[in-house]
Amino acid sequence: MIDSLILSGKEVSASVYDSLIRKIKSLKKNNITPGLAVVLVGEDSASQVYVRSKTKTFNKLSLFTKTYRLPSNSSEKELLELIDDLNKNNLFHGILVQLPLPGHIDSDKVINRILPYKDVDGFHPENAGLLSIGKPRFIPCTPKGIMEILKYYKIKLDGKHVVVVGRSSIVGRPISILTSLKDENSNGTTTICHSGTKNIGKHTKSADVVIAALGVPGFLKENMIKEGAIVIDVGINRVDDISERGYRLVGDADWEGINKKAAAITPVPGGVGPMTIAMLVQNTVDAAEYQK
Ligand code: NAP
Repeated sequence: MIDSLILSGKEVSASVYDSLIRKIKSLKKNNITPGLAVVLVGEDSASQVYVRSKTKTFNKLSLFTKTYRLPSNSSEKELLELIDDLNKNNLFHGILVQLPLPGHIDSDKVINRILPYKDVDGFHPENAGLLSIGKPRFIPCTPKGIMEILKYYKIKLDGKHVVVVGRSSIVGRPISILTSLKDENSNGTTTICHSGTKNIGKHTKSADVVIAALGVPGFLKENMIKEGAIVIDVGINRVDDISERGYRLVGDADWEGINKKAAAITPVPGGVGPMTIAMLVQNTVDAAEYQK
């Protein structure tokens, strides 16, 4: 048996940045530098890592970004006031509130406060609604990145059975909508599975494309996919090991088993992850263009 084709998010994101550089140059000629405000509340270590890597990418592309760090005991009112200020600030075309927020803050209330045309995460109900009626404005970055990977590797969904495991509003739900939209890069027949689904393997085994987005390390096993399926592994899970940092990152698919049975698979790390940041840049550049 031969190894599966590796769907490299690193490679796809590099090609996205190449095309964005042209757009960024043209905006700069008009004295517009796409700007992103990042709001980080508390000290969650994974969030700190994500924010650092977003900042690094924005700086590398000479885009404007500023991170607002609030202590974990900040009140909801303080956070909402900051969002109001950022909404009015023309230097910022996009606003991102790093989730999860501390438990005493209502995340929905905060997301709903961001102006929909600055909501580069695509989580505001107006943007989620536009996506669900097939007229997307800002698409959440991770599902948008998955669609870019499929397009880059010329993997057609038309007429295919897509099975998504996970129904979060960040990944599972929006990718289930995107894969079933009536357009030339989509048009799949999508099944969505979740913790209430009986016998998930029965569904995934009938899939041409499986998108695993549940956050359970190695959940998708070899006997749960058919020979030649495409596997998109969204999971980023820390599992303890004996390395210096004490953990390694693994996906929701059991790589060892699936690696030879699938026709193609996204690795973890280096698959969907790099696309999420690339799509955040793309949404911020798009936001700057909308607000011209
Ligand atoms: P989430 O909000 O926790 O949602 C998980 C979903 O999976 C829920 O719908 C849940 O079902 C379902 N689920 C959980 N355990 C299950 C099980 N044993 N069987 C069937 N369904 C199950 O997670 P998320 O934010 O969507 O993230 C999912 C994974 O993707 C995580 O590993 C996360 O780190 C990763 N992620 C990666 C990126 C990236 O850039 N690559 C971005 C975002 C997230 P219920 O709805 O019934 O609870």
